[in-house]
Amino acid sequence: MNQPSPLASWNGEIMPLTEVRVPVLDRAFLFGDAIYEALRVYEGRPFLVDEHMARLRRSLDQIRIEADVDRIERRLFELLERHPVRSGLVYLQVTRGVAPRTHYFPANPTEPNELIYVSPLDDDPHARHRETGVDVITFDDLRWKRCDIKSVNLLANCMAAQAAREAGCAEAILVAADGAITEGSHTSVFGVRDGAVMTAPLARNILPGITRSLVVELADRAGIPIREEPLSRDRLSEVDELFLTGTTAEVLPVTRVDDQPIGSGQPGEVTRQIAAAYRGHVADWLAGAPAPAR
Ligand code: PLP
Repeated sequence: MNQPSPLASWNGEIMPLTEVRVPVLDRAFLFGDAIYEALRVYEGRPFLVDEHMARLRRSLDQIRIEADVDRIERRLFELLERHPVRSGLVYLQVTRGVAPRTHYFPANPTEPNELIYVSPLDDDPHARHRETGVDVITFDDLRWKRCDIKSVNLLANCMAAQAAREAGCAEAILVAADGAITEGSHTSVFGVRDGAVMTAPLARNILPGITRSLVVELADRAGIPIREEPLSRDRLSEVDELFLTGTTAEVLPVTRVDDQPIGSGQPGEVTRQIAAAYRGHVADWLAGAPAPAR
């Protein structure tokens, strides 16, 4: 089936994504001086918009980019009204804008540049992985000390993801110098031991994942004990189950790490329970959410 092409809003002007042109002096191009978000679209409706907008606002504040987040949100809905996507992904990026190249923030920057685009997402390969589970590798966490800011500086994440791909794996889970697992290259990481779920506590060394936060809430509601404490690389052999979460991944069981099976080597029961709760939550939200205006 032919999928509709990605459609973009570039500073509020709607055009095919392929027609957007970015000035070379944009600080995102020169320095990676920009913040981004990625949101899932189910049945044409963007999921967890308030949560993504709150994280966007916080990241922008942390690096002192002044942008009108309410207007960005309005533009996101305008864009979706113009695109027939049902299952999709919205990518959104705000840069500090264009200025002569200096490392310090320019005194008189132009307006931030803002890109939002929507593209169709074929969930079938992800759905298959959610059933079978995936293999992952461990990889050194080479990133900076403010991973809580969702900046577009993703080189260390890209290197980790590439290493995973070359190993035939779906994701790389990142290991800090002290042996603690922080998160995945583009997912949050959870372990299960003796029926309790563990994940790294929110701090500057991980992204506050939107899916992570929903999963913590859903596990809590289901009466599954949750402990926000770091998992360590050395003690991975002691966990019964491992899973990843993310906007696209949703809840994704991990069956092998560095070629070693986790638990039985099959997706675990607690993971399945949480994945079902996640799907149920999306279905309930869809049943109650207003239909897209088109
Ligand atoms: N951790 C990192 C480093 C990420 O890049 C992402 C998503 O891109 C996540 C975790 C998952 O975050 P979310 O659940 O908000 O998609």
